[in-house]
Amino acid sequence: MRESTKQLGLRIPRDQYNKLQDYAKANEISMTELIISIFDSFLNSHTPGLCPHCNFQNPPDADYCMRCAWALSERAQETKENLLALLAQNPDIMNELMNRFADTEIKKRDDP
Ligand SMILES: [Zn+2]
Repeated sequence: MRESTKQLGLRIPRDQYNKLQDYAKANEISMTELIISIFDSFLNSHTPGLCPHCNFQNPPDADYCMRCAWALSERAQETKENLLALLAQNPDIMNELMNRFADTEIKKRDDP
């Protein structure tokens, strides 16, 4: 498990990594599956107008981000693919997602 996160270039603070690992164990899933579920929840929690690239809140009907020109509503699938590619190339963004997930999502799921 640690092998695969190492391969992805993840740098997660130890306590957060432990939190993620505990969560994976408690739900009988692998760290890989957990990481995928983090991405899924990130991608699926897309708020209309919220840019998944730079996090700028655009008007809900915006097609492109006003800050970074990222494709929003009209090309959702393409955006998703771009985002996955972006994440694969940017371990820092992935780390940030993992950290946020450790901080907020797990707390939410454990204690709704
Ligand atoms: Zn943007």
